[in-house]
Amino acid sequence: MKIVEIFRSLQGEGKNQGKPCLFIRLAGCNLKCRWCDTPASRSSGIEMSLDTVMEQVWRINPPYVCVTGGEPLLQADELERLLVSMKKRGTAIDIETNGTIDFSRFQPCASICMDVKCPSSGEQSDLSLLEKIRPEDSVKFVVKDEADCRYAQEVLKTHPISGEVFLSPVFGADYQPLVRFVLTNTLPVRFQLQLHKILGVQ
Ligand code: SF4
Repeated sequence: MKIVEIFRSLQGEGKNQGKPCLFIRLAGCNLKCRWCDTPASRSSGIEMSLDTVMEQVWRINPPYVCVTGGEPLLQADELERLLVSMKKRGTAIDIETNGTIDFSRFQPCASICMDVKCPSSGEQSDLSLLEKIRPEDSVKFVVKDEADCRYAQEVLKTHPISGEVFLSPVFGADYQPLVRFVLTNTLPVRFQLQLHKILGVQ
């Protein structure tokens, strides 16, 4: 598997925000978001055998793991073996994905956190995947400006979503207009800042 890093931190986003977590960051991405905050994850990473990855995970034996990227679903076969192994040990698993690749084969093992790319990113997610989101999954719009909020509003109007929806500003964006938009339009979202960035941890 191509890995960028395996590290412990607090989960900074989503339903498990604030929980201690072991992150497995897989290398490579099929998108080029303008504001990508993990450009290193778009590199080819370090080749590690599945056994080596597992060894590192079991040494820590965390109750909760987040598999992120890059786009982790690009390494589907090895990822599936890793997930099955962690699931057997009772580990709770989140997968963060950019919403361009079908994630349904991983849902028996993990909770999906699907990003919906907004216009400011210069990229686009596959909105048809939203119908595969279950109540235990979640969806995140990373927004930079009001145009992104309007896009999120339109997507939410036209796509019923079973899981929780987060609206998360690009770090350092002017939050006030975004908050006003959520309040004025009563958007059915949870507004969420990236905790790890506020805390200055990885
Ligand atoms: S999907 Fe994620 S890793 Fe890929 S370019 Fe966008 S922000 Fe960066």
